[in-house]
Amino acid sequence: MNDEIRTALAKGYSHREVEARWYRFWRERGYFHGDEHDASRPPFSIVLPPPNVTGSLHLGHALTATLQDVLIRWKRMSGFNTLWLPGTDHAGIATQMIVEKEIERTEKKNRHDLGREEFLRRVWAWKERFGSRIGEQHQALGASLDWDRERFTMDEGLSRAVREVFVRLFEEGLIYREKKLINWCPRCHTALSDLEVNHEEAHAGELWSFAYPLSAEAGGAGEEREAGGATEIVVATTRPETMLGDTAVAVHPDDERYRSLLGRKVRHPLLHRELPIIGDALLVDPAFGTGAVKVTPAHDFNDFEVGKRHGLEMITVIGPDGRMTEAAGPVAGLDRFAARKEVKRLLAEKGLDRGSKPHLMPLGRCQRCETVLEPLLSDQWFVRIEPLARPAIEAVERGGTRFIPEQWTNTYMAWMRNIHDWCISRQLWWGHQIPAWYCADGHVTVARQAPTRCGTCGKESLRQDEDVLDTWFSSALWPFSTMGWPEETATLRTFYPTSVMETGHDIIFFWVARMMMMGIHFMGEVPFRTVYLHPMVRDEKGQKMSKTKGNVIDPLLITEEYGADALRFTLAALTAQGRDIKLARERIEGYRAFANKLWNASRFALMNLSGYEERGSDPLASELSPADRWILARLQRAVNETLEALEAFRFNDAAGTIYQFVWHELCDWYIELAKEALSGEDAGRRAVAQAVLVRCLMTSYRLLHPFMPFITEELWHVLRGEVKAEGWADSVYASPYPQKGQVDEAAERSFGPVIGIVDAIRNVRGEMNVPPKAEPRVSIAVSDPEALLTVRGEAARVRRLARAAIEVVEGKVAPYVPKTAVAVGPGFELRVHLAGVVDLAAEVARVDKELERLEEDLAGIDRKLKNPDFIRKAPVEVVDKDRARADELREKRGKLEAHRAMLSGTEANPARRDTMENQNEPKPVAESAAPAPVEPAPAPAPAAPAVEEAPPAPEPTVKKAAPKRKPARKAAARKVARKPAAKAKKKPAKKAKGGKKPAKRGKGKGKGRK
Ligand SMILES: [Zn+2]
Ligand SMILES: [Zn+2]
Repeated sequence: MNDEIRTALAKGYSHREVEARWYRFWRERGYFHGDEHDASRPPFSIVLPPPNVTGSLHLGHALTATLQDVLIRWKRMSGFNTLWLPGTDHAGIATQMIVEKEIERTEKKNRHDLGREEFLRRVWAWKERFGSRIGEQHQALGASLDWDRERFTMDEGLSRAVREVFVRLFEEGLIYREKKLINWCPRCHTALSDLEVNHEEAHAGELWSFAYPLSAEAGGAGEEREAGGATEIVVATTRPETMLGDTAVAVHPDDERYRSLLGRKVRHPLLHRELPIIGDALLVDPAFGTGAVKVTPAHDFNDFEVGKRHGLEMITVIGPDGRMTEAAGPVAGLDRFAARKEVKRLLAEKGLDRGSKPHLMPLGRCQRCETVLEPLLSDQWFVRIEPLARPAIEAVERGGTRFIPEQWTNTYMAWMRNIHDWCISRQLWWGHQIPAWYCADGHVTVARQAPTRCGTCGKESLRQDEDVLDTWFSSALWPFSTMGWPEETATLRTFYPTSVMETGHDIIFFWVARMMMMGIHFMGEVPFRTVYLHPMVRDEKGQKMSKTKGNVIDPLLITEEYGADALRFTLAALTAQGRDIKLARERIEGYRAFANKLWNASRFALMNLSGYEERGSDPLASELSPADRWILARLQRAVNETLEALEAFRFNDAAGTIYQFVWHELCDWYIELAKEALSGEDAGRRAVAQAVLVRCLMTSYRLLHPFMPFITEELWHVLRGEVKAEGWADSVYASPYPQKGQVDEAAERSFGPVIGIVDAIRNVRGEMNVPPKAEPRVSIAVSDPEALLTVRGEAARVRRLARAAIEVVEGKVAPYVPKTAVAVGPGFELRVHLAGVVDLAAEVARVDKELERLEEDLAGIDRKLKNPDFIRKAPVEVVDKDRARADELREKRGKLEAHRAMLSGTEANPARRDTMENQNEPKPVAESAAPAPVEPAPAPAPAAPAVEEAPPAPEPTVKKAAPKRKPARKAAARKVARKPAAKAKKKPAKKAKGGKKPAKRGKGKGKGRK
């Protein structure tokens, strides 16, 4: 097997081949199974928010699966007894609609033609055929779910739990049935909860006014005169058809204009009835419109409350199908929107039209089908929510559950404190039928099992409520129903409460809040300790992905093309807290290149391990070269920082740390540095370098495994086989996750400058367009005595790698030398002498051009920031971002100006001084191939021109196609050279189009340098 895989390695990395083989391997070994009887390890559990059974994997699922799998694999490798529980949701409306459409298409029938029983049989058949698709798609992503425990919200056990919960809540008075106004979708033919309504805040509508004539009979001629001769009351509406259901006109009781009319009546101009004029201070704002308001209790939520307060008649004039009922008189039978026109026409005919004006109005649409919803008065079941919400608020207040990012705590609290009773009945067939039965007298019997007789009167002929429960009713129970509740199971004992609820913030109310309420009520304990809400995945411009925009990225195609590992790593690397994910294909390509890089590094290692003997222990410190010590120190730091990031749910930082270490430190540097030893004659040196390389790779595989499970497993097997390491587990998943440890900081300090210096010189070469063959003279100052020794010891190597004639001095380089470029890094500074090497005039021209562009950008932003309208209206984040950008540009301008001054041999900004701590006089050291003495100069040099123009942005812009860099604090030592020549970075917008692919960049860089 070993030879076989090595051949595969030699051919290059093929994700298709690698990813096909490991999922089954893990599963067969039972790695995914959470052991409910294992008390020896601490538990760590997550329930996967159940995707819809109708679903096909989209990026939201892929993100959820990735982040949860990262957590689960990391915890499992860290010694936890992990459970990640999968399942699907029956998705009431969605599934019913799909099957209805299918039957309509193939058989030209609707569900009523088939009847309830037959229709449900069809839905189950559909579920059997297609319901496992989303699970398979999760497997292709590598999600290490415990498939032995897969559940479905309508399986037997969960149905039992739903019924149990319903009955208990009913018995506790927390579920009731009432005739109330609810949101109704005339197309889906069902009630919806408030959360299932898409609110359009400012729909462009019309506010139309008409007059209600005052009733003559009620008052008499005398009173009419008292009212200032008023003969009518003018009201305004956005929905004229509802006037047919009006049962009152309301005014503010203190409104002088109408005081004398209170208690009188108006005449309905289209129907034979009179409406009272009532005073209602809660409903009426006297300043709005005429100060008089029509009241339609059966078709408006506010009016419904008025109707209850005043005991008004509630007349339904729009039926469940969106057509006008018999009660609508002259327009009965018309569709509601046709009726709107007709009512206006009829009233105009009677001379009662009082004009209209455009009006922005809120509009509710069905989340499923976008149909404009209609408030409908009907008998529905509700959960009395306040008693459930209170403990769920308290649990968060006392820290029983915490939200990450923390800001979501406020969102949660605000909603929970203003929560309304939850309408849970749906007029669908697919779902949990409500366990309530009615006798002929209308008595209700709620029971766990179908009762034989009425609980009130004992009559035997009962019929079950036809409605089903809201889909979210069953998913609210998910954290405990899936573990066997209402039985007291070992699984519940071991894994409840779950450790983390990880989901999108768009369902904080649907899922998180309701799971909290139900979990606390029925389990006496919160359902999860931590709620991590991930950001939304958007396109590269930050726009929502949608089919109409054509910017949807399909994770299935991406996985096919680049591999699950690349997709997973990309999603994790982009998941920063509190910021949407902007996903571009280039990013995925970039991380695919990362996988490739690791593959090639491993291949290189395999080819250089001949004679390697696993010693079972690390090489002695005394055997290590400075480069060996350095990479081991960096490895430990990467481990520490990855763990800190994971513990704080900073997925992007964890991924970024690993990426930075593997690509830039291990592959770009250490492997290059170790080549000499690996191919040299000295067997002792070779053995040590081999041991360090193996240690770095094996640790990197483990560190990276939660993010890129497939490739790391493959490489682990190959390398483990090659080095015949007995002590290592035969799967990376079964190996311990790297642990925090002491970082050898002395090694970092001592060898870090060597790397920094080479990087800095290379960077100056790039920025200044130094011809590849030229060997500029470079003066280098190193402050730390130990580092100085190391740099001197490595001088030949530095010279070779940087192609420069170097001289190393202690302390500080000459403060100012004309026509040199300065670069400063931690522990060193250097000057590259450019005269005679570079065309300085051309460089000045280039800098001038760049300054010009920068001034334009800056002026644009400043204009915006000086515009009070912008400051007032734009979101705070946007303004802050612009301010930060302006600061950034100013800083860059300073650097460019200084740089320009250096090039032209004048001093730009004497105030800016270098910051090296050691103020000793520079001591030239005769060491370099071209030991020209450093000339003393009159003034300190400006800040390094060659350092990165701007601090690394928290999130790279599009043009920076290469995967994300580490934040500044880590990158400091090497930031000078880790980027392509300055030109590639200048103009984000312009660069975006021809954006370089990171893969190419990586290759190009390697070629150019080594
Ligand atoms: Zn609908
Ligand atoms: Zn009865």
